[in-house]
Amino acid sequence: MRVAKWAGCQIRRMAEVGSTNREAREWALEGAPHGAVVVAARQTQGRGRLQRKWHAPEGGLWLSIVLRPKMEAALFPLLSFAAAVAVREACEAMSGAKARIKWPNDVVITGRKVSGILLEKEGSAAILGIGVNVCQCETHFPEELRERAISLSMAGGRQVSIDAVEKALLLALERRIDAWDFVEEYAEYCVTLRSPVCVSDANGSFSGFAERLDPDGALVVQDEQGVCRRVLAGDVSIRGRDGYV
Ligand code: ADP
Repeated sequence: MRVAKWAGCQIRRMAEVGSTNREAREWALEGAPHGAVVVAARQTQGRGRLQRKWHAPEGGLWLSIVLRPKMEAALFPLLSFAAAVAVREACEAMSGAKARIKWPNDVVITGRKVSGILLEKEGSAAILGIGVNVCQCETHFPEELRERAISLSMAGGRQVSIDAVEKALLLALERRIDAWDFVEEYAEYCVTLRSPVCVSDANGSFSGFAERLDPDGALVVQDEQGVCRRVLAGDVSIRGRDGYV
């Protein structure tokens, strides 16, 4: 099997950390190279977007990668879209189940979240955190997540190895970032596009129809008055009209 060239060129493996993104940020400050990875068996203070809690006990792949791509910093936010495409591909290959993307960068299987992605900036580097539920069973998730979360093993009905997911994921990620050609694939697999959505942020919420993606990754939603509004990934929660997706 092909192995990645730069993604995972150096890997720090830890039994437990607060957050792999925090560890990777510190390493980036000390000069971690492009592709340096922190992997932890469990995170005690995993985070999602908007400071939401990310549940990350043993049984998942919890990693953060330091990226120093040769591109304008303005394009950095698109790295999380490249990551979503790569994670989706790896999740489908490893589980055998159809995986889809929920804008901006959650990966879902049968409408439940199997992976979350968190992109942060640290000076001239980007820190990309990726969490994938790999071999948890339903009872391993806290009550409030049980209807909304799934692991690759649950989805595929077979045991999936964390190690194999890590390898497939790093390879897929490297390929997408090097080729910088993921927009069509993103649109093909994104369940949010061309569907009714409910958008909420700190100021309130509105319903509409997700029309398209702008080149910078913003979701263009036509509201019920027919006005097209640009929705940016950092600020909002998106839900399907009748549920999570
Ligand atoms: P959202 O899915 O609402 O856009 P985020 O991308 O910020 O939010 O992810 C954080 C959310 O993901 C949490 O609020 C929680 O609902 C959910 N979550 C936390 N841990 C897990 C997990 N291990 N698997 C699936 N979903 C999770």
